[in-house]
Parts: sequence; C-alpha cells; structure tokens
Amino acid sequence: MEHPTFDVDLAIILCEMNSFKDGLLFLYEKMKLYKEVIACYMQAHDHDKLIACCRKLGDSTQGGDPSLWGDLLKYFGDLGEDCSKEVKEVLTYIERDDVLPPIVVLQTLSKNSCLTLSVVKDYIARKLEQESKLIEDDRKSIDKYQEETTSMRKEIQELRTNAKIFQLSKCTACTFTLDLPAVHFMCMHSFHLRCLGDNEKECPECSPEYRAVLETRRNLEQNAKDQDRFFHQVKSSKDGFSVIADYFSKGIVSKTANGTCST
Ligand SMILES: [Zn+2]
Ligand SMILES: [Zn+2]
Repeated sequence: MEHPTFDVDLAIILCEMNSFKDGLLFLYEKMKLYKEVIACYMQAHDHDKLIACCRKLGDSTQGGDPSLWGDLLKYFGDLGEDCSKEVKEVLTYIERDDVLPPIVVLQTLSKNSCLTLSVVKDYIARKLEQESKLIEDDRKSIDKYQEETTSMRKEIQELRTNAKIFQLSKCTACTFTLDLPAVHFMCMHSFHLRCLGDNEKECPECSPEYRAVLETRRNLEQNAKDQDRFFHQVKSSKDGFSVIADYFSKGIVSKTANGTCST
C-alpha cells in the first residue's frame, strides 16, 4: 500500500472479527497477498469471481502471479463435483502462460472423478503435438551435430596420419610470391618468415578465432566448476533437467576439465 493512514494488520483483524469480506479482499489485494484473496473466493465457492480474480491477479505482464492458476486448478481437482466449464477456462490460461507441465495438470485433475477426458482432450492433443515437434527439432540438431563431429574427427585423423602438401605460392600476409625462408601452417596458410614478425608459432590469420574458442571453453569450464551457481540454477529453474543437461554439454564431466588439453 502506498501510504495507508491506518494500521493494516489491525484493519485485517477488525475485518476478520466482523466477517467483513469486502474489506478483507481489498486489504489482501492491496498487500499483494493474492493467495489469500483467492482463498476467500474458494471458501465461498464463488467460481465466476474466482476466475475473474485470477484473470486480474494472475497476469504476469501486469505484475501478477501466474502460479495462482495452478492453485485454482488444484482447487477444481479437489472439488469433487463437475466443473468442466471452469476447468476448460483455467486450462487456457495455464497453457498460455505455461504455468504447469501437462503431466502435473493431468495428475491434479485426475483426482476429481466428475471430470471427463473430454475436458482435457484438446489441451493434451495440442501439448503432445508441441512436444513431438520439439523432439523432432532436437533429433535434427543431434543428427547435424553428429555429422559435424564425425567430419571433424576425420579431419583430425587425416592431419595426424597423412602428409600435407603445401601448395600455396603466395604469402597470406603480403600476397607476394613465397620465397625462402617461408613458414607453412597446418591450416594451409603460408607466410614469409619476415611477414610473421615475432610470432612464428601460430598462424596470424587463424589464431584470433582459435583463441576465442579456447577462451569460450575456459569460461564454460570455469562456470561448470562453480557449484553454488549450479545448485542455484537447478533450484530456481522451472525445468531442472535442462539445466543439468546444459551443464553436461558445457563439460561438467569433461575429461579435459582438469585443464589439460590434448590439441
Ligand atoms: Zn609475405
Ligand atoms: Zn591459418
């Protein structure tokens, strides 16, 4: 509340003592005690107002709390009477804001034996379709990455076992014809020794990119070792599994995690 000219706690006690419901609702809403607001409507079994209230207080774009829709669904799941119309409406909001995973929705609603499958049929069909699409996309990415890895492995193998023929006749730096002494790198760039300056160990064309990759990798490994951050992310994320999977991809169990690098 901005600047209340009364003691809020006292006002709540007064309202409660005198069962002044409108006053309670007003105070709870002003104090952002949204769960208490909907609890009032739940006690009164006033479904229309309950949904209208969640529509107002559960909109995250207006600073509301979308998890109210989850509470509402739980309420209808425990209700023990037919409330198909209400549940259908609640589901549209749960789906829109992605408040609950479908499995939780089903588990919650299955407690109410008066609800039939037709209530959730459309919702589940849409969810399954979305999930299949995601799986399909993931499969495509997996195939793509596997292909890339295979071709990189092949290249490494070739670099290790086959002889390389350096055919470049021009210096990559100054573009004049190469003459001795010249330096050839495995990335197939060649330079006059004099064009390389002090640094004759790595190709000046490719080293910035190579360094950037090394830097990224070092950062990822550093992050992966930060346990506090890891647990914090797992706890605060809606989908802990994806956080763990992400950490796997960043090398939390990488063989090179101790800093040795076989390149
Ligand atoms: Zn040159
Ligand atoms: Zn190069």
